[in-house]
Amino acid sequence: MTRYEIEHATSVFTGGGHELLTFKQHNTRWIKITNEDLGKLPGVGLATAAKLKDAGYDSMMSIAVASIGELEEASGLGSSPARKIINFARENLNMGFQSGIELLEKRKTVVRIPSGSEALDKLMGGGFETGCIVEAYGEFGSGKTQIAHLLCVMAQKIDPEAVAVYIDTENTFRPERIEQLAKGAGLDPKKVLQNIKVARAYNSDHQMLLAEKVGDLAKKENLKVTLVVVDSLTAHFRAEFIGRGTLSERQQKLNRHMHTLLKLADTQNACVFLTNQVMSTPDVFFGDPTRAIGGHIVAHASTFRIYLRKGKKGSRVAKLVDSPNLPDGEAAFYVRTEGFEDI
Ligand code: ATP
Ligand code: MG
Repeated sequence: MTRYEIEHATSVFTGGGHELLTFKQHNTRWIKITNEDLGKLPGVGLATAAKLKDAGYDSMMSIAVASIGELEEASGLGSSPARKIINFARENLNMGFQSGIELLEKRKTVVRIPSGSEALDKLMGGGFETGCIVEAYGEFGSGKTQIAHLLCVMAQKIDPEAVAVYIDTENTFRPERIEQLAKGAGLDPKKVLQNIKVARAYNSDHQMLLAEKVGDLAKKENLKVTLVVVDSLTAHFRAEFIGRGTLSERQQKLNRHMHTLLKLADTQNACVFLTNQVMSTPDVFFGDPTRAIGGHIVAHASTFRIYLRKGKKGSRVAKLVDSPNLPDGEAAFYVRTEGFEDI
């Protein structure tokens, strides 16, 4: 158990957004709780507030959108007090609806990251959109990791301040490849690499944790994260949950992960680019006998889905499978050392 010592509580009840309490944890790290957030919650004492804060619940919004189970686990409270504080947070928060006009305004902040291939960009409605999830699935060597690398570079081409976060589960991130693509895009490779934050995920729990930490990272280091890559989304899940009996557990975890990623896309206005493998489905006789891993849970959370396959003469073909506002279609391109090239 973590032990918390109260350092001083002099400014309690001063109101107006002053510091409510300052905690000290093991004489090393400071945890601050401010009036605007957790201090207001009913029945939450000092230790519980600190535990919540420590588990990443640092605002009314984070409490309001939490589930009872999550909060119980994080705070050590029972389910009834946990429900109480969630309800309190919800009531005290403007969770309200947005008008179509507001949403249209928000849509104007959407950025489209180009790929360098006109055909692929056209297919994607002008590039890879921020604020949503784009899933690319296809068999090995179909170009998923290539797109992921390219987007890291192109995000910076259109915005020098942009930062890409790369969650690498298969150890396939290659800085050398970024150098090639950066040169191809006319950018300084060193600077581009500087603005890509790579984390290797060793298992599915680690992967989920990393995704949860991206928001913190952006906030702490004041980064403009416009791209988050998870390559591959499903490899760990697939390897760890084998057999029918574990399927529902896997899907539940994957569902939670997808929600984290959705939230991330929305709050950071980032393009979340996920890669996914396919499994062969021999029972399909017509059309392509391949299906993405993760089923409906991944498919429903993704705004855009592209299916990649190898085409003629070493080309790659991307097919838009699912999009809210674009027609389905196909684009073919070549993967070259310096970038993507139209056919
Ligand atoms: P997996 O499911 O195994 O992860 P993937 O879809 O991620 O596969 P990629 O790694 O994106 O596959 O694609 C690999 C292909 O990209 C290579 O077979 C090659 O054709 C092409 N490629 C990789 N590097 C270069 C390069 N420097 N120049 C040109 N083409 C390259
Ligand atoms: Mg790959």
